[in-house]
Amino acid sequence: MNEIKIAFFDAKPYDKESFNQENLNFGFSITYFDLHLNKDTASLTKGFDIVCSFVNDTLDSSVLDILIKNGIQLIALRCAGYNNVDLKRAYRNIHTVRVPAYSPYAVAEHAVALMLALNRKTHRAYYRTRDNNFNINGLLGFDMHGKTAGIIGTGKIGQKLISILDGFGMKISGYDKFPTADLEKQYRFNYVNLNTLYEESDIISIHCPLNTETYHLINNKSIAGMKDGVMIINTSRGGLVDTKALLEGLKNGKIGSAGLDVYEEESEYFFEDFSSQILSDDILARLLTFPNVLITSHQGFFTKEALSNIASTTLQNIRDFLEGRDLENEICYRCDEKACRKKKEGRCF
Ligand code: NAD
Repeated sequence: MNEIKIAFFDAKPYDKESFNQENLNFGFSITYFDLHLNKDTASLTKGFDIVCSFVNDTLDSSVLDILIKNGIQLIALRCAGYNNVDLKRAYRNIHTVRVPAYSPYAVAEHAVALMLALNRKTHRAYYRTRDNNFNINGLLGFDMHGKTAGIIGTGKIGQKLISILDGFGMKISGYDKFPTADLEKQYRFNYVNLNTLYEESDIISIHCPLNTETYHLINNKSIAGMKDGVMIINTSRGGLVDTKALLEGLKNGKIGSAGLDVYEEESEYFFEDFSSQILSDDILARLLTFPNVLITSHQGFFTKEALSNIASTTLQNIRDFLEGRDLENEICYRCDEKACRKKKEGRCF
């Protein structure tokens, strides 16, 4: 077999380090591109066999057309979410694999970090004390013990979060389109419908995938049904929250605080340094003015353990594909979430 060539997009120094380390066990030829994959850069895939992409690469039908023309056989996503791939266009043309789990702990723990910081205002206290300002006015929080957390999506990350928040003594409600049988016996929480979750939760944390059904799940209507002063945490995907509705809720005080590790227009900004430039995104700029909003730059996954797992699973997915083995982590548009995870019959097509 000719040497298989992998075009690796949106490569950051930490990606190169973890993949180079893990690739010692695989020996693939990887070419790292700092650029995002999109319509303007897709021509770079000429001469490659496999594309390795991340969350803010664009794999819509126009990009897939170019990849297909260039003979790309496999898209190896090095992330769990795949909302950026036009799976319908890929179907029967390019196989797509992902890393379904690399550290649910990393994301669940980051969600808790956002909750704690927003509640006890540690992000503000940090700046005050550095300025020799030891006044605590305005930093009042609440006991999380006894409050209600609503978890939307009780999959791998949602379950880890439930168990951490249970340790805080919170009451926990969960909503999932596909509730897992017996999960309520394993963890201390109750499944409720979405409206009840909105009505009763002091903190709402989102852990379901972004798809056509969940796009703008958090919108004016759902916010109106929430408790006054609710805290909203989104570490899942930006498009799950209608940011204009969130802004409105923050401005009129309905929403008490928001922790966002993801943002619907993040692809232009997140993971990059714009510290010497003016932000042209007025909504992001406005969000950053709120003292009760904490934004992190899609770093929920970013732990040493997760990076190492991402690299090893991605390279193993590629090896399985090349050696004709069943693709345990393949995704295709014909399978819904559950079917994909349960898929036993191997390749989708
Ligand atoms: P998972 O597949 O284990 O769990 C997702 C859960 O959502 C499943 O139980 C599924 O049944 C449920 N679900 C599907 N459709 C739903 C709907 N319409 N309403 C409610 N629930 C629905 O996935 P996971 O590993 O727990 O990851 C969850 C999400 O976290 C991913 O989709 C990804 O977008 C995001 N994520 C973010 C980061 C980060 O760095 N911030 C890292 C990894 C994953």
